[in-house]
Amino acid sequence: MIFTNFREIDKLGRIVISKDIRKHLDIHPGDMLMINAEGDTITIKKAENKCVFCNSTGNLSKFEGKHICQDCLSKLRSL
Ligand SMILES: [Zn+2]
Repeated sequence: MIFTNFREIDKLGRIVISKDIRKHLDIHPGDMLMINAEGDTITIKKAENKCVFCNSTGNLSKFEGKHICQDCLSKLRSL
């Protein structure tokens, strides 16, 4: 499925990602997006969530806007 939207950039440089695209990509407030620019093309990609300590992508919990895996959480709890 292809989604195409035309959006105006605001004076602070922000754009809105439409609800249909956010729903399609399972994007929620607080999720990280990766923005790349090359030539006259900007791409925005949903960034994979990673543990802030070990970069693991599995079994993550979110705390204060950061992701942490269960292994690192267990290690912190045992300190
Ligand atoms: Zn970890």
